[in-house]
Amino acid sequence: MQDILICKPDEALEPTEIPQVSSRGTNDRRCDVAVVGAGITGLTAARALAAAGLSVLVLDKGRGVGGRVATRRIEGATVDHGAQAVDAANAGAWAALAGGLPANVLERRAGRWIGRIGMTSVAKSLAAGLEVLTAERVLCVRGASPEHQLLLESGRVIAARAVIVTAPVPQALELLTQGEVPLDAAETRLLEGIEYDPCLVALAVLERAPTLPDAWIEPDDETVALIANHQARGVSAIPAVTVHATPDWSSAHWEEPREQSAAALIAAAKPWMDAPVRVLFGHGWRYARPRAPVGGGCLVLAQAPTIVIAGDAFTSGDLGGAFRSGCAAAEAVLHRCA
Ligand SMILES: Cc1cc2nc3c(=O)[nH]c(=O)nc-3n(C[C@H](O)[C@H](O)[C@H](O)COP(=O)(O)OP(=O)(O)OC[C@H]3O[C@@H](n4cnc5c(N)ncnc54)[C@H](O)[C@@H]3O)c2cc1C
Repeated sequence: MQDILICKPDEALEPTEIPQVSSRGTNDRRCDVAVVGAGITGLTAARALAAAGLSVLVLDKGRGVGGRVATRRIEGATVDHGAQAVDAANAGAWAALAGGLPANVLERRAGRWIGRIGMTSVAKSLAAGLEVLTAERVLCVRGASPEHQLLLESGRVIAARAVIVTAPVPQALELLTQGEVPLDAAETRLLEGIEYDPCLVALAVLERAPTLPDAWIEPDDETVALIANHQARGVSAIPAVTVHATPDWSSAHWEEPREQSAAALIAAAKPWMDAPVRVLFGHGWRYARPRAPVGGGCLVLAQAPTIVIAGDAFTSGDLGGAFRSGCAAAEAVLHRCA
């Protein structure tokens, strides 16, 4: 093992001091709809709303689009470290999405859809033609009439007639609380009850192709949830794998340095994958999968009906569900803003 690259865990939204905005508000930008989050939910909603003729601005704190759909290039290898594929159960929703994307972005393999050059390419295609501001963390959403305000860490203020928040629910709730958006008791209970499992990940560039029986396997194991072979998946030119830990193992090892958990994961994956590791990269998804999605598609706030909370937690907790939640959120906003 020649090199170890370490990635910090996803930061939970730290309580941050909110900059003061004058009561008049100094809006740097106006739009019909502001979408917080450029994951599959947010981009799907934004596309539908833009297609309906509304002005839409998407904001994401990340450096790129995709959220939990994330592809990295490491020393000539291409690795997906978040979602790997769309399950057959969601193929219908995904086929609808695929219909709106260029033909060379998605490919069906073994009954599942994957991004041909990595899963992020799907998000990038969804984002094409949209106005997306990356590296723009939203600090709070203020519910006001007739326009809501979003305060950004950069100091900018966005005014929007409607807001769709697609951050994982604990982070979404923090944005609303900071902005003093009124929630009724049932909404607070619902949102506070949505929990996520974490997922620790090892990304490894290998010296030679691993002896894996398939492009990805999900062993029945206490430590290893999934091993994806990116060369066999057709996304990487050179041998590379992603190993996902189980939720229990990820929770138990969350506080460890990422290079330590990544090395432990590679060791645990040995029975299925024996190739020597050249580069190892550790990552942690704090909000990987909602433990018990609540359904409903999205949540339209009773006392602020032009603020909609959306994401995979309101459907099936996966990519197909994120697509469906984005559609539901767009429909809810169109109903109120068109
Ligand atoms: C390790 C892992 C493996 C998975 N494997 C699969 C799989 O194989 N198949 C499958 O179907 N699903 C899988 N999933 C689940 C799938 O990735 C998610 O269901 C889906 O990507 C969720 O999309 P989303 O848009 O709802 O949320 P996200 O992708 O989380 O998007 C939310 C966005 O909000 C942004 N954000 C948060 N807070 C702020 C803020 N304050 N300001 C601005 N932006 C903010 C984030 O940066 C993020 O980009 C996996 C997930 C993980 C983590």
